[in-house]
Amino acid sequence: MELILATSNTHKAEEFASILGGVRVLTMKEAGFSPEIVEDGATFAENAMIKCRAVWELAHRPCFADDSGLCVDALDGAPGVYSARYAGEGASSEARNEKLLRALKGVPAEKRGARFVCAIACILDERTAFVVEGTCEGVIAEAPRGEHGFGYDPLLYLPEYGCTVAELSPEKKNEISHRARAAARLRERLAGYNAD
Ligand code: IMP
Repeated sequence: MELILATSNTHKAEEFASILGGVRVLTMKEAGFSPEIVEDGATFAENAMIKCRAVWELAHRPCFADDSGLCVDALDGAPGVYSARYAGEGASSEARNEKLLRALKGVPAEKRGARFVCAIACILDERTAFVVEGTCEGVIAEAPRGEHGFGYDPLLYLPEYGCTVAELSPEKKNEISHRARAAARLRERLAGYNAD
C-alpha cells in the first residue's frame, strides 16, 4: 500500500513509514505537488482533515495528514492548535516555553495537568475518511529539563517515567509519544481496510 503524507518533511514520512510497517509513505513533493494549505481549523482533528482533504482533492490517492500540539488544563487547553505560534510567528522554542511557564506561575502541581495530542486524518477512498488521535499525558514542570526532542518536550513531565519528555531517549519517545500512539491506531485501521 502507498499513502501520501501531507508534509514536505521526509524525516516525518520515514518515521511514519517505520511505525506503519509495510506501507510506502510519500511526501507531497515525492507525489509530485506542493499545495499551499491554510490550517485554520479549531481543533487538531479539523486541521489534520483540512490538510488531508487538500491532498485528496489534488491526488485522489490514499493520503493522511497529522496535526499536533500541547494542551494545558489550567489554560483551558491552550496553546492547543496555536502551539507552534504561541509566542508569535517565528519565535523560538525557548520563548514559547518561557511564555508557558509565566502563564502557569503560581499554579500548584496538581493543577498543571497537560498532554501532547496528535490527530491523524486519513482518506483512503470516496467513502473512507476518518480521524484517529493519540495523547501523551503529563504535568507542566516548574522549569525546563532535558536535552532530547524538540519544542515543549523539556516542559512535559511524565510522572509514570519520572522525567520530562526531553529526558527520554529518542527511541523511548518514539514508542510512547502522542504521534506514535495515533500512528498505531492508524495502522490498526489500515489493517482492517478492505479496498474494493
Ligand atoms: P506539528 O503539528 O507536528 O507541526 O506540531 C505543532 C507544534 O506543536 C510544534 O511546533 C510544537 O511546538 C508542538 N509539538 C508537537 N509535537 C511535539 C512534540 O513531540 N514535542 C514537543 N512539542 C511538540
